[in-house]
Amino acid sequence: MAHKITLIRGDGIGPELADVAKRCIDATGVSIDWETVDAGIDVMEKEGTPLPNSVIDSIKKNKVALKAPITTPLGSGFRSVNVALRKELELFACVRPCKYYPGAKSLLKQPENVNLVVIRENTEDLYAGIEFEEGKEDAKELSRVLEEKSGRKISSDSGISIKPISISATKKIVEYAFEYAKNNSRKLVTSVTKSNIMKFTDGLFMKTAEEVSKSHSGINYNHVLVDNMCMQLVQKPELYDVIVLPNLYGDIISDLCAGLVGGLGVAPGANIGDKYAVFEATHGSAPMYKGMNKVNPTALILSGMLMLRHLNESYAADKLEKAVAAVIKEGKDVTYDLKPKRDDPSAVGTKQMADAIINKLGVC
Ligand code: NAD
Repeated sequence: MAHKITLIRGDGIGPELADVAKRCIDATGVSIDWETVDAGIDVMEKEGTPLPNSVIDSIKKNKVALKAPITTPLGSGFRSVNVALRKELELFACVRPCKYYPGAKSLLKQPENVNLVVIRENTEDLYAGIEFEEGKEDAKELSRVLEEKSGRKISSDSGISIKPISISATKKIVEYAFEYAKNNSRKLVTSVTKSNIMKFTDGLFMKTAEEVSKSHSGINYNHVLVDNMCMQLVQKPELYDVIVLPNLYGDIISDLCAGLVGGLGVAPGANIGDKYAVFEATHGSAPMYKGMNKVNPTALILSGMLMLRHLNESYAADKLEKAVAAVIKEGKDVTYDLKPKRDDPSAVGTKQMADAIINKLGVC
């Protein structure tokens, strides 16, 4: 029976990437009945919102979606479609594998040693978006309460963001990280925080992670401070396996890890919840490249590969990953970002790279 999947075409470079990713996934032979929906700034004028209810309804019905990137509108009152989707669908875990495919551009001496997975808590932290604008009465009132309770003065011209970190959400994400490690033959889970400074939030994350680790004796566990982790990842990324972090550090570290293995063009991702899963590239909608048939389709195609694994279509997922790896290794039919020089005239377009991947599917 065909898998029913929601395809969100997004905006900016989203629609062209969605189209080629769909073609590559279909070419694996897995039977998929795609329900294509639109979200993002292009639908905002028509629908009055960048995230129409029909998009949410489609994902709730189909349970699984492949999503192209979406621009976060500035000053529209709508924070972010991506954040709203994660919240609405309770997608508590963001999973971003960082694996080097030979041929991709990396500044590391031995990038082939990098094969780690970043697991980011998706619902809390400064990213939850509880903010108070500078100059507004709410911010002033909150400053007064905080000063009264903490004895510390907040400058009257401050904007304020709130950083909630709970035991329950931390337990859930760390349990997920250990389960992921177990199911994917990984040996080490590392939690990352700034617990030495933010004792009641990051400290709680670290303490909770330590507790959870005690019930997973088959897998090693350690904790590293986030500033140290940035340096370690650049110098010794091979020491890390599964990394679990609060939301904001996860956002930043996953782009850093993408940079280690060839950049945003090759970094896939998945947002996982108890009921639904949305697969998407780490990168955004890169509006300056919209409609130019220029950007690298790999990240969204590999997100599709992760989706196939989630659907238990491991054979097709392996085939697709091998085809992508073969095209990158050959280095001929690849986009500008995978060429030794960015202005290399032999770089191909988005569609042509996808065609090369489809051709390789026949031989991988
Ligand atoms: P971006 O990831 O869109 O682009 C940054 C740069 O990365 C680009 O200029 C380009 O040089 C490179 N890049 C990105 N994707 C690439 C690809 N497929 N191939 C080759 N190079 C690629 O980040 P941004 O410019 O900060 O964000 C643009 C918009 O996207 C913002 O509105 C942001 O909020 C949104 N965004 C959306 C998502 C999502 O939908 N999940 C994720 C991140 C950012």
